Amino acid sequence: MTTPVNREARRAVVAIDGPAGAGKSTVAKHIASRFGLLNLESGAMYRAFGLKALRAGVDPDDSAGLEKLAIGTGIDLEAGDAGNRVLLDGEDVTALLRDPAVSDAASRVSVFSPIRAWMVRLQQALGARGGVVMEGRDIGTVVFPLADVKIFLDASAEVRGMRRYEQMQPAPEVQPDEVIRDLRARDERDRNRADSPLKAAPDAVLLDSTSMSLEEVIEAAEKIVAGRVGR
Ligand code: C5P
Repeated sequence: MTTPVNREARRAVVAIDGPAGAGKSTVAKHIASRFGLLNLESGAMYRAFGLKALRAGVDPDDSAGLEKLAIGTGIDLEAGDAGNRVLLDGEDVTALLRDPAVSDAASRVSVFSPIRAWMVRLQQALGARGGVVMEGRDIGTVVFPLADVKIFLDASAEVRGMRRYEQMQPAPEVQPDEVIRDLRARDERDRNRADSPLKAAPDAVLLDSTSMSLEEVIEAAEKIVAGRVGR
């Protein structure tokens, strides 16, 4: 039986940011179920738009082309027990979003300010009533700067790459060093873009999971949330 969660915790906004493969999704899922919050993955929205660009044949580095493509595009995120459902123009594209080509396109389209401004508006609307844990890169810095709890989850690139690689198995055609290389490339782009670069908010609690087990990370994150919003 889980401990009952108080009203304050149920209305809380929890921001979890960090680089790819740091364990944000797993931690967010546990925090959501432990504290009765909706779990929203902001990266899935960038992925959906990346997929749209690939399908439309728009270069994910072409800012003007992307802006045009965004007009009339509908992206919706629905939180559910089995994870987020992502609707792109009404179509459920959830199962298509983990493809490496989509990951790469998402990383590229997310550099552009008009695309980010649009996504941030959608994300703020989703979290406007509170009661959410949202994970991403700029949640604590830009989307919800007043979040009740901010966690910045990090780990070395090697450890993150190996975790990603293991999640991808069985996939004999993929090599660990390729996964680590792709992850580093996405990180570089996230950390160095002019608009909303990946960085910890000054008031975020830093959690480095390099030498922690998943259970330890989850436990540490739960303690941080409980310490801020009570139980
Ligand atoms: O978190 P995920 O790997 O699904 O995100 C896909 C891409 O979307 C990331 O590589 C990142 O470039 C971008 N992203 C972002 N801001 C967010 C969430 C994701 O720029 N809040």
